[in-house]
Amino acid sequence: MFDRPERPVLSPAALDEALALVASEMRRRAAGRSDEPVQRERSQGLIARLAGGGLPATGQPLGEVAADLVALLDQRARTDHPRFFAFIPSPVSPASWIGEALTAIANPHAGAWPQAEGPAAVEAALVRWFADAAGLPDTAGGLFVSGGSMANLTALVAARDAALGDDDRHLGAAYISSETHSSVAKALRIIGVAASRIRRAPVDADLRMDAGALAGMIAADRRAGLKPFAVVATAGSTNCGAIDPLHDIADVCAAERLWLHVDGAYGASIALCPEHRALLAGLERADSLSWDAHKWLFQTYGCGLVLVRDRARLFDSFSAGPDYLRDATPDDGATNFWDLGPELTRPARALKLWMTLRVMGLDAVAAAIGHGFRLAEAAEHALRATPDWVVATTAQCAIVTFRYAPEGLDDAAADAVTEAAARRILAEGYAAVGATRIGGRVALRICAIHPETTIADIEETVRRLDACARQELAALRP
Ligand SMILES: *Cc1c(COP(=O)(O)O)cnc(C)c1O
Repeated sequence: MFDRPERPVLSPAALDEALALVASEMRRRAAGRSDEPVQRERSQGLIARLAGGGLPATGQPLGEVAADLVALLDQRARTDHPRFFAFIPSPVSPASWIGEALTAIANPHAGAWPQAEGPAAVEAALVRWFADAAGLPDTAGGLFVSGGSMANLTALVAARDAALGDDDRHLGAAYISSETHSSVAKALRIIGVAASRIRRAPVDADLRMDAGALAGMIAADRRAGLKPFAVVATAGSTNCGAIDPLHDIADVCAAERLWLHVDGAYGASIALCPEHRALLAGLERADSLSWDAHKWLFQTYGCGLVLVRDRARLFDSFSAGPDYLRDATPDDGATNFWDLGPELTRPARALKLWMTLRVMGLDAVAAAIGHGFRLAEAAEHALRATPDWVVATTAQCAIVTFRYAPEGLDDAAADAVTEAAARRILAEGYAAVGATRIGGRVALRICAIHPETTIADIEETVRRLDACARQELAALRP
């Protein structure tokens, strides 16, 4: 017999203390957030003391370390606050917390089907369900990845391998637009597409890819000896919520026999909202699709989905089959997820989403998504009713952009005042409103996808932004 080495065990008392802390954190984060400032004062002293304090040779009490962790977790942007409108906010359903915690405790190895049959069946079912929601055919497949960046990367590997061989890979050209998310160009660089062959098609006045210009670029590149292999369209751009003309772009791809990847990391969730589903017309023609659940489906981070029209393409690109994994071959025709994407060992990312969708119900998911549209429309309405503010891009997919531009103020000064107004409202703790650029000029951006944000929150944010801008302007012109 082997002696089992002694190992530290959670005492029942320590476990109770830790669980009580977890429960109180859940209650604290679930309640009363809108009364709190959108940003807490950070304490560099606390961060330095706790994060830089070194590691002990002898273990410390669980409850004490957990309390330190809770303190550190407050030293951050509160992207889940109902008035956090910058970037893509991350309102999270408590069902996702609990699904994530239970998954972490069981820690299934979700790489291979036989290692985690229950979790694998849920992932396969959700992949099927989301493919149906996107209108993809029965041949479609995919898997959960850490987010939109990895989804874009995974899909573009399949696109490249479907079109290019060893001999012409260096000639491959891919098409994006000036509004495409930066993760797409990054993914293309990672898979060996040189910057000069990452081609940016122009956009129209609404910042949607110009499909006619795209076709012209592809033809010119072919004449120059390049091998166009993929077009990346965006369904819900991060900057302003624009949806590229998917049918027009799909027509170009069909005529040119190019892979159409749709980056729906932000906007694909609209497919689950019958009220706005028609905006995504043409999505069903995609060869692949990225879809983030940690954005508009209320998941904790690390939950994205990549779908491919012909799942065999993923297998062709990613299956490896080394000898030491022979035991993990599923015997019922199922595919191991490690053969469909870059990761071998991987967490069961689908479970928290499955739990959330079941706990919320699809009607509530649809209503929450529709609510985001209404919030951005309310913001646009309030801005149009406020003198000196100009809407830069109209409310679409829960995003509106705008700038402060009173008559007589030159563009550079308007840029400065606009940006300063956002800094001021954040410093006051009321709302986080992002700054961006639209058409080369500074604009503010409200991305309103939090289900608990109210129209009153939106109207008060606009009112205060206006007050902030006036104060900044007064400081500029004493
Ligand atoms: C957020 C986003 C991404 C990147 O996704 P991550 O989950 O942050 O990796 C890609 N594309 C679009 C359109 C996005 O909004």
